[in-house]
Amino acid sequence: MRAVGMTAKEDIFDRLGRSAFRSRFRLGQKERAYAEAKGRDTIAAHARDFIAARLAPAHPRNDGRQTPMRGHPVFVAQHATACCCRSCLEKWHLIPPGRALSPDEQAQIVDLLMCWIDRQMTVDPRSHS
Ligand SMILES: [Zn+2]
Repeated sequence: MRAVGMTAKEDIFDRLGRSAFRSRFRLGQKERAYAEAKGRDTIAAHARDFIAARLAPAHPRNDGRQTPMRGHPVFVAQHATACCCRSCLEKWHLIPPGRALSPDEQAQIVDLLMCWIDRQMTVDPRSHS
């Protein structure tokens, strides 16, 4: 089931790819090493926790500044997919601010983040300029 306002994943990746800002994000060496060491299930669990704690509340703490630019693969994925704060969620994913995210919306976001991370983990880091 698709959350209200969430467009199909391919469509959102297509739009993100046309944003110079969003398409600039890459997993760094440390984040890749961390993702490899922890494994996909653990990273996905972290993604669920981060989204539930930092993004899902109707009025998230420090909204707009709650997601560091680096330091965890999920943080980078959040910026790359415009799931970093409620303003970006509204602008890119048409999810209105001021209300809590539904469990379905949270699951869609986690799915998007993990899809982005999967893509990053399967490309050769040296192929990036
Ligand atoms: Zn944002």
